[in-house]
Amino acid sequence: MSTIPTTPVTTPRPVETYPSRAVVDLDAVAHNLHVLRGRAPHSLQMAVVKAGAYGHGQLPVALAALGAGADWLGVAQVEEALELRAALDDAGVAREAAPILAWIAPSGQDWARAIEADIDLSVSWTWALAEIAAAARSLGRRARIHVKVDTGMSRAGSTPEDLPALASAVRTAVDGGQVELVGAWSHLSRADDPSPEGLASTAEHVALFESGLGVLAAAGLHPAIRHLSATAGALWHPEAHYDMVRIGIGMYGLSPDPVVAGSAELGLRPVMRLEAPLTSVKVVATDRPVSYGGTWRTPTRRWLGLVPLGYADGILRAASNCGPVTVLSAEGPVATHVVGRVCMDQFVVDLGPAREDQTSASPDAPARVGDTAVLFGDPAVGRVPSADQWARACGTINYEIVSRLGERVPRVHVHGGGTDEEEARA
Ligand SMILES: *Cc1c(COP(=O)(O)O)cnc(C)c1O
Repeated sequence: MSTIPTTPVTTPRPVETYPSRAVVDLDAVAHNLHVLRGRAPHSLQMAVVKAGAYGHGQLPVALAALGAGADWLGVAQVEEALELRAALDDAGVAREAAPILAWIAPSGQDWARAIEADIDLSVSWTWALAEIAAAARSLGRRARIHVKVDTGMSRAGSTPEDLPALASAVRTAVDGGQVELVGAWSHLSRADDPSPEGLASTAEHVALFESGLGVLAAAGLHPAIRHLSATAGALWHPEAHYDMVRIGIGMYGLSPDPVVAGSAELGLRPVMRLEAPLTSVKVVATDRPVSYGGTWRTPTRRWLGLVPLGYADGILRAASNCGPVTVLSAEGPVATHVVGRVCMDQFVVDLGPAREDQTSASPDAPARVGDTAVLFGDPAVGRVPSADQWARACGTINYEIVSRLGERVPRVHVHGGGTDEEEARA
């Protein structure tokens, strides 16, 4: 592991010129992986860094995860895997130290590039196996594959009906020297659900996985790495740990289901803090409409702040009139929320009633231009909202809140949750 560089690689975009930023604490990534290792101590740990590491920045998170002892990296698309491999090669990370699995297999993919980049590939169908085996044959190399079994999600994976034919095709490709069967795997659809139905679903997944392993064994196939669990399975289903667990959301410090247990309860530290400086603080008269459609009207003479983040940055429009925000003013944190509709590039927050004698220029404003508005972060550290609160406000899940963060928001990677400036303020 000594070959893994720990220096964070930050966005090439000049951060000073863009007002908002997502501060990503790589020490929290390492902390969370250690906590989750404790929950599945006998299994290999795959760090799932698909979708730009759930919006946190693919390469810096991958390096932090490997540095923290993660054994594998996982992504969805082959293109993501190729990008990750190239970046890891450039960073000097040995390929044996960083096996990568990509699990989305579109027909006609350039499999040869993936095989050459030492990307492990998921196989659910005989046609995919045929394409991969053909590419391997033309390269004169074995492709590394993980057979996926459909254990009850009806997404990817070979159904119990289809699996015997796939197993025999894999057997032929193994014997022919085109593939090496590295793994067998599946995915749980209700691992976060403690209801009797949820538990029964997970038990059924495990049973179908076992019978799938039996089908492979009958074809003489004994994959070394069997894997079934993502974060929720790692946390709540030891019977589903097998040889490896695939850790996504928990590595980012968020719970797969905050209703079952929140980040703090699980000992996880939210990794991302999304913030922007106020670009306006002004007094608006009573009963004035705010933002498109005037869906909120000032209930009194009001202090309003303007935040330069909008739906083009991934701030869901569903947060209109509700998304929680904490403004860090000189007098202390002001807990508030979005008022009016979220626009493409900005939204308004309520900063409270303004007295008749106050004007926009009053020195006793509740906040000032340049004060930091925090949308979400680690509520255990400062009085800031959580990604879970944003998810609840928007009627979605924390996964969507972080992974949809827009391309144009700079990611600033730090160790220990704060820059010098923030440590000075704390
Ligand atoms: C995204 C994903 C994971 C990670 O899931 P989390 O719930 O974020 O831990 C694991 N396995 C597969 C197949 C995935 O698509």
